[in-house]
Amino acid sequence: MTHIVVLGSTNMDLVAYVSRAPQRGETVTGREFRTIPGGKGANQAVAAARAGADVSMIGAVGNDAYGSQLRSTLENSGVGTGHLRTAEDASGTAHIVVDDEGGNAIVVIPAANGTVTGLAPGDESLIATADALLLQLEIPLTAVVEAARAAHRHGVRTILTPAPVQPMPPELLVVTDLLVPNEHEAAALTGLTDPHKAATALLDQVPEVVVTLGAAGSLHAARSLAEPVAVPAPSVTAVDSTGAGDTFVGALAVALAEGRPMPDALAWAAAAGALSVQRPGASASMPYRPEIEARYT
Ligand code: ADP
Repeated sequence: MTHIVVLGSTNMDLVAYVSRAPQRGETVTGREFRTIPGGKGANQAVAAARAGADVSMIGAVGNDAYGSQLRSTLENSGVGTGHLRTAEDASGTAHIVVDDEGGNAIVVIPAANGTVTGLAPGDESLIATADALLLQLEIPLTAVVEAARAAHRHGVRTILTPAPVQPMPPELLVVTDLLVPNEHEAAALTGLTDPHKAATALLDQVPEVVVTLGAAGSLHAARSLAEPVAVPAPSVTAVDSTGAGDTFVGALAVALAEGRPMPDALAWAAAAGALSVQRPGASASMPYRPEIEARYT
């Protein structure tokens, strides 16, 4: 089995479903409330574990009831939590209001995630044994940079999702092997709305880029390719695209770690992404390996 390490966030999503979001100073009565384990780091870890890898998560949950729930959700998905710390803080939360039109407003409070400012003893040896390190930007950049550097020192492939999108220090990009922005993030990073142009521009900073394009699939650009190559997504009826990007990246990491060439790995990740959008939820909708294999063509 391949081994994937994920460094990143765990959040409890606190979701209020309302017909109409309240204005400032207003109170509205909502329809339903749900607590849904999430965070981009945890979601990518679940995606990779379901796709068939041995996954370890580095990060922190809070010293509260949500923390225990977040930890057990990861463990139930088969994610190793030996390097997931319990911080003397609250768990990260995302306060989400979803209206009847599917629009949302979100407040994220990092809390425990903000305590992950660097690697702890033992984290680097764990990273050294991995086939790939998955990174996002929901924890302090100092930790992301330290982990990426450690991976680079040990020849471990680093795969970075630049979300939430923000300026990234050159010392991070120089140790990033594969950058996987969605089209909005690619545009924000480059100022270029055309994904072909954005992907090409990003090659000045990293050797390989995959821009995800929702139902339109993805675009693969690499310094070794003459120009970006489009990879289609299977045509499906989408009911909820939350977590599609994290499903895609988790599956992509597993396929690459197993040694599949990039075009095959992208088709495999596209199969996983298409399966996830046909079901509601973020990590709840993530497909298991046999389903991906059956959908992959
Ligand atoms: P994010 O969730 O980060 O915004 P995208 O929306 O680009 O990312 O989706 C990531 C991947 O998931 C896409 O590249 C595609 O393979 C798959 N995907 C997303 N939406 C759909 C859809 N409606 N139909 C089929 N595949 C989809």
